[in-house]
Amino acid sequence: MKTVTIPTFALLATLCISCMAQDKKQQQNDFPVQKTDEEWRAELTPEEYHILREKGTERAFTGKYWHNTAKGTYYCAGCGEALFSSDTKYKSGSGWPSFWQPVDEHNIKVVMDTSYNMVREEIVCARCGGHLGHRFNDGPQPTGMRYCINSAALDFKEEEKK
Ligand code: FE
Repeated sequence: MKTVTIPTFALLATLCISCMAQDKKQQQNDFPVQKTDEEWRAELTPEEYHILREKGTERAFTGKYWHNTAKGTYYCAGCGEALFSSDTKYKSGSGWPSFWQPVDEHNIKVVMDTSYNMVREEIVCARCGGHLGHRFNDGPQPTGMRYCINSAALDFKEEEKK
């Protein structure tokens, strides 16, 4: 049997790493809104940048929307895409804005997230790829889903009162 030499192993490892980097680049290219890191930094607040572009998480019960009960629509803080309606927002007790459904399944994208030794469904904006939060299957009916979203990833616009 032929043994795998160290140079062969190093070559394979390099190929594998460049392949993964290519994959990541490919995933980022999937989104219609493309901006450089400098552009995102200039447009977003440091907190928005950390959450949307670096997949950060705000501390529970500290965001501006977890207890917001006004009627209206939540838009992506990165690109303005409509994401969630107050009609599907509910009190989850988690300390983050929680919804049982997005305004349109096409406006978000679900990505497998295996960070922190957990398998979770990450939710990103389908237009700009910004990290929004995670989806769990312990939500209320009719979907049974909980979209757990960072306030800093959202811009709320209140519905005009008639
Ligand atoms: Fe977006």
